[in-house]
Amino acid sequence: MKILFYDCKSYDKSSFEKELKNYPGIEIKFLKTDLTPNTAELSHGFDAVCAFVNSDIGTRTVEILHENNVKLILMRCAGFNNIDLNTTKQYGIRILRVPGYSPEAVAEHAMALALTVNRRLHKAYVKVRENDFSLGSLMGFNFYQKTAGIVGTGKIGAAMANICRGFGMKVLAYDVFENPSLKDFVTYVSLDELLAESDLVSLHCPLMDSTYHLINRETIQKMKDGVILVNTSRGALVKTDDLIEGIRARKFFGVGLDVYEEETPNVFEDRSDEILEHSVTARLLSFPNVMITSHQGFFTEEALAAIAQTTLENAKTFEYGKETSNEVK
Ligand code: NAD
Repeated sequence: MKILFYDCKSYDKSSFEKELKNYPGIEIKFLKTDLTPNTAELSHGFDAVCAFVNSDIGTRTVEILHENNVKLILMRCAGFNNIDLNTTKQYGIRILRVPGYSPEAVAEHAMALALTVNRRLHKAYVKVRENDFSLGSLMGFNFYQKTAGIVGTGKIGAAMANICRGFGMKVLAYDVFENPSLKDFVTYVSLDELLAESDLVSLHCPLMDSTYHLINRETIQKMKDGVILVNTSRGALVKTDDLIEGIRARKFFGVGLDVYEEETPNVFEDRSDEILEHSVTARLLSFPNVMITSHQGFFTEEALAAIAQTTLENAKTFEYGKETSNEVK
């Protein structure tokens, strides 16, 4: 089976090449360019294409893949909102994805952000490099015996709840479904109660109509003063303008964001030589108690290995004509 791999970064190539040894029937050609209507033509002679979150797999791309006789799209991520599913269905192109890879990778990053803004590590790093060994502005607070509020207790939220428990925190949670694996130490409460009680609020629910701008002026007002907010889920869970207003009103002790609205043109790109048109990121970064990373929560060796393994297993499953729950229907 021949796979054309789009939008390849050096770390993708090494994780897939390591795993490929176990799949002798699969051959991969790695391309740096992403899958778009302009690059879909390159798929001629391949059985499958492998794409990622920002690939443009709209109608025209799918039509070209069909003309080139491509029968399979392998998404090396969980999301598939960038695919025109009506057209893939029409042409019988199957889509297999990686629904989960390493929840601990994202949860550990959420705690890293929480600790960074709490203990001002982002400031301490710069200060010490400048031979400024004073402690001014670096004081944090203990997480021990404080309250963590986990919004969404699926795979990642559950991992975060366990980490917070390890810090000796009381753990509250809000979800539309309770996770039975957490019943020994997590107390499920209403969202309002969680916001009112928590010293650390960490978001782990998916972005849907019901969760769009879940954190807004009204819900921010319900939070404790001096709260730490962490978002490693999806940017649009938080209404950025209201967050900025809350930061200016001194509501937050700290804010840690791995995702934020308007991140799409930035994600995984080096834009250090550019003058950015939008100022929202710059405005957020201007606050001393805000730490932003660029969607790197998933980025660990273990997660990349799991993504490569599941993607290649998906390809094998397709080749043998088998069913899998990783298929997007
Ligand atoms: P999951 O499906 O296992 O868990 C999601 C949980 O959210 C479920 O328990 C669900 O019941 C709950 N939920 C649904 N609607 C809700 C609502 N209105 N209020 C509260 N909870 C609600 O998903 P997961 O694997 O834990 O991933 C969570 C999110 O993390 C994903 O949706 C994705 O956006 C994000 N993510 C980020 C990265 C990263 O690199 N930063 C990587 C992977 C996933």
